[in-house]
Amino acid sequence: MIPNSSVSYQVNEAEQPPEKSLSQENQENLDEIERPDKPEEACGVFGIYASGEDVAKLTYFGLFALQHRGQESAGIAIFDDGQIHVHKEMGLVSQVFNETILQQLKGNIAIGHNRYSTTGSSHVVNAQPAVLETRLGPVALAHNGNLVNTSQLREKLLEKDCNLVTTTDSEMIVHAIAEEVNSGKDWLSGAIAAFQQCIGAFSLTIGTPEGIMGTRDPHGIRPLVIGIIPSQPQRYVLASETCALDIIGAEYLRDVEPGELVWITEAGLSSYHWAKPERKLCIFEMIYFARPDSLVHDETLYSYRLRLGRQLAREAPADVDIIIGVPDSGVPAAIGFSQESDIPYAEGLIKNRYVGRTFIQPTQSMRESGIRMKLNPLKDVLTGKRVVMVDDSIVRGTTSRKIVKALRDAGATEVHMRISSPPVTHPCFYGIDTDNQDQLIAATKSVEQIKEQIGVDSLAYLSWEGMLEATGENTNHFCSACFTGDYPIGVPDALKRSKLMLEKV
Ligand code: SF4
Repeated sequence: MIPNSSVSYQVNEAEQPPEKSLSQENQENLDEIERPDKPEEACGVFGIYASGEDVAKLTYFGLFALQHRGQESAGIAIFDDGQIHVHKEMGLVSQVFNETILQQLKGNIAIGHNRYSTTGSSHVVNAQPAVLETRLGPVALAHNGNLVNTSQLREKLLEKDCNLVTTTDSEMIVHAIAEEVNSGKDWLSGAIAAFQQCIGAFSLTIGTPEGIMGTRDPHGIRPLVIGIIPSQPQRYVLASETCALDIIGAEYLRDVEPGELVWITEAGLSSYHWAKPERKLCIFEMIYFARPDSLVHDETLYSYRLRLGRQLAREAPADVDIIIGVPDSGVPAAIGFSQESDIPYAEGLIKNRYVGRTFIQPTQSMRESGIRMKLNPLKDVLTGKRVVMVDDSIVRGTTSRKIVKALRDAGATEVHMRISSPPVTHPCFYGIDTDNQDQLIAATKSVEQIKEQIGVDSLAYLSWEGMLEATGENTNHFCSACFTGDYPIGVPDALKRSKLMLEKV
């Protein structure tokens, strides 16, 4: 991806964290502070075509709202009269951009990206948007999801002497588009020909000098929505979630359909269906990843998560004094559990909202206290109480154990854990980092063994049926492979071997 003269390309190397030499336990504590015991999201994408608007600023705020989807790097590519300007760096959106940088990014088209690395190492060279020059001008691509045929695509591109710079599947997609365009196709047919070579999960926003494209893979594993900026003429926005529309005052129009390409230019929005859809939206987006104020199926995910909690209370009631949620993601289900069981909801854990990834190592005593850097129990609420603690999922189980101990230390007499999803037994190959199978506590241990390990008085998970029925949608329209191992998109054996450590491939 070598920029030519029409490309102003700034990629800044961020400071790397210092080498650490810690005892295993302290390293574990530090890992927990920096890396939550949750699946981690792949990416957030954004795209806007809006002549006359400050598209750099609108993209900045869109990415800001999507920060939860990726915290390792952020980038914006702006098109201005056939030229492209790119700024991308390691760090949070607010660290990567400032007023001065945004003022330099002038144009009418922008593509934005937040990244958490699920393929390729965490390094600025892998930051997106991925940019390439073609015979029709520059192209910029932002990708959410993971391909499962990256190595085949890579081999194909290398045969064509493509100069691959990074290790990401996103680069393969942008190269495939450039190859098609350079062979004589226009933007639309070139992009569609490239998408048809891709297998896996991909929600993309793509910028060209003529307009922006948005597409989802035929299974629609990752979300992508269309918004309208009320203006004359009407302007369109693409984003991973509706929370990125709300922040810039755009109205939600509809989802990009699985297997659909939307093409947004000066003439407006047109739609092309390039593959037969077979809906399989990631159910984890609904349980945990997406923000509770984002809309899915015309309601906020907060409402869905409340229903999960209600269903959980019906399936696994408990005789306790208060219900608490693990902030933030366990709270809506805890409130639903409380409503259904008629037991008061209370705030038992206060989250330090400003603990993120830090390159400053905590002191020895802070490391020893581990979890309390993130969550502090409220003694007044917990002392002498029998507690149900609701969380959305358990991945490795390490954090849960420490939270339970902190609750007991704060005076809780009983701690019962309820999880608003089934046990995570399988890794994800579609853009979510759920660890290898052998690191997933529920892949190797029974519910009783997990209960013992995390030290609770009782433990229950929501049933798979309960999780899907609470969607109120056709239950076949979701991927739930990390709970079942039933992968909707075939995963090649070599890739399976890399993560499915406990199963014969
Ligand atoms: S395997 Fe799990 S995390 Fe991955 S797409 Fe399917 S439901 Fe989502």
